[in-house]
Amino acid sequence: METWWVDNLLPLGGMADRICGGMAQVRNAERTTAAEILDRSLRRGRLGHAYLLSGDELHTLEDFSKGFIRALYCERRKEMAADSGAGTAALDGCGECPQCRKVVSGNHPDVHYLRPESKLRQIRMEPTQEFIRRLQTTAYEGRYKLGWISSIDRMNTQAANAFLKTLEEPPPKTVFILLTTEIERVLDTIISRCLRLHFAGNGELVFPTVARGIVGSLVKRALAVPKLGVLEKYRLLDAVVAGLSELRGEIEEAMLLRSPLSSGDKDLDTGLRDKYEVELSSSIESEYRLQRSRVILAIQWFLRDLWLVRSGIIGSTPAFPEHQASVESLAQRISVDQALANLANFEELQRILHTNVQESLAIEVSFLKLHL
Ligand SMILES: [Zn+2]
Repeated sequence: METWWVDNLLPLGGMADRICGGMAQVRNAERTTAAEILDRSLRRGRLGHAYLLSGDELHTLEDFSKGFIRALYCERRKEMAADSGAGTAALDGCGECPQCRKVVSGNHPDVHYLRPESKLRQIRMEPTQEFIRRLQTTAYEGRYKLGWISSIDRMNTQAANAFLKTLEEPPPKTVFILLTTEIERVLDTIISRCLRLHFAGNGELVFPTVARGIVGSLVKRALAVPKLGVLEKYRLLDAVVAGLSELRGEIEEAMLLRSPLSSGDKDLDTGLRDKYEVELSSSIESEYRLQRSRVILAIQWFLRDLWLVRSGIIGSTPAFPEHQASVESLAQRISVDQALANLANFEELQRILHTNVQESLAIEVSFLKLHL
């Protein structure tokens, strides 16, 4: 498996050059990005047949991949490239030519999309077979065919095995773009057949604003009483529920803007509109679940800070330095075992939220068990 780590599309070492194929020499001084890597491959007409984009944020991966698709089909790409000269990192089409418009509205006949569906958010056999069938037809516009799969980690085993066969023997002139925020859930056999671009964070812990707010209110409420009782726990739960619903609202708004439904295309037929609506609600659910797990993760990191202090482990950087003084005082109220139980409790919460359990109930149970 070949992996290129791309720090939020910030410059990376020149080793990324190897992705383009045919570049024997790696220039150490050269700094490049995922956009540059793909831009260069496009210019040379040497695209790999499958790219796996991994990272923490599905919307970052989706936005990036859509730019790449526009760049792939754009009619003015050549002129744009000539204008900007070599080495540009802008990986996008003009957004205005007929090809770009078809891509933006989701109507391009050679671009095929596959996403998780239904309440279980799975990519199942039937849509996968349909997706493969469509890719096996000749390209309408006579150029590349593109198969885009969001959250490939949600593909069930049966579908993944069917897709793997296509990936092993791809139809001619076909490029696959696969996205995942949970690389550990993707089959190794799929990973090994792709060029992988990883969009890493900057190595710091970045929690959603909502998550920081929740941790802040946890600290405040705990400090206000000698021991966090049931009543305080329920008040805290209210803050968590409000925070999560705010988060969902933000995601809905952002996702709607990215959907072809917001392109204002009045000619969209009902069937297509229904399809986009299903896709939209599925992306909202994916992104919400991802962000929610980061909110819980923030609480886990806070509880880890607490456990570190309680166990007297020194030398580890706290995740929430701004609360460190409070953590030191709160740590005195619980035993080491309780600090550990807190960690196990929220780990379990993460695990069961992956299943289809009722969210509010699961969160309530975890907060009621919290020792603080
Ligand atoms: Zn264009």
